[in-house]
Amino acid sequence: MTCPICSSTAVDFCKNGSYALHYCTQCTAIWTPTVVSTEYYSHQYQLVHQLSDFEHQRRYIERLPEQWKLLSTIEQFSKGKNLLDIGCDFGHFLDIARRNGYYVTGVEPSKTARAYCSQIGIETYKEIRDLPLKKYDVITLWHCLEHIEFPVQFLLQIASKHCSNETIICIRVPNYYSLPSKLFKSKWIWFQPKQHHLHFTKKSLHNALELAGFEVKFLQSQRPNSLKTIFGSFFALAVESNYSKRGIMATFKAIARSIWHYLNSVELFAIASVKSKN
Ligand SMILES: [Zn+2]
Repeated sequence: MTCPICSSTAVDFCKNGSYALHYCTQCTAIWTPTVVSTEYYSHQYQLVHQLSDFEHQRRYIERLPEQWKLLSTIEQFSKGKNLLDIGCDFGHFLDIARRNGYYVTGVEPSKTARAYCSQIGIETYKEIRDLPLKKYDVITLWHCLEHIEFPVQFLLQIASKHCSNETIICIRVPNYYSLPSKLFKSKWIWFQPKQHHLHFTKKSLHNALELAGFEVKFLQSQRPNSLKTIFGSFFALAVESNYSKRGIMATFKAIARSIWHYLNSVELFAIASVKSKN
């Protein structure tokens, strides 16, 4: 057995609750032994994401401040406007990006999500290999890399076909070494061993990028949502409550849930560019 990041065979076992995980003693990568197929995602998304137009709008409003914050961080590292989002889901981030002057493209395995993107005029492809041979200025992977079986090969594939020296790649993954993860162990909100193949730490994410030929420009642990997002979320919930007449108690519960989510969600955010060959 080899490590999916550094290919070392110095692999040990570790546990999180009742889940047995693999651990690389060389680079500290941690991963789930089983791998989820693309077909599973496609099917699950069809089951889970039967969202109404209203639910789409609520999710869209709720995450507006988060998306604006991401775009303003990206702009500090690149002025380029060709953006590719890998694992673009329903294209909400891409929609906000194009409203901010970006030319956007998405990659998304879910047929349902791709159909929605097409409905709102966003071009998407099922897999990276389907993309036209084109370089992008900004490539984003929001909570995508933890689902990939061989992240270094995946990043190498992106780098060789779609990155120029000016391209920046922006990655967000759950932070497995965060305080909420350590406190709640297998009950942590983002410990999802059935979907997440990799459980990234700062070191393993840094290693994966370096091994794929990227130079890390920025890497921090953060909450994806600022307090502004929480207020955005309150607003969205208030709108929903008014429209759906779900009642004040249900609205409070939803707000409490969103605060709980805010406190527990800690992710790693990395920005990198292809290492110059000099
Ligand atoms: Zn390793």
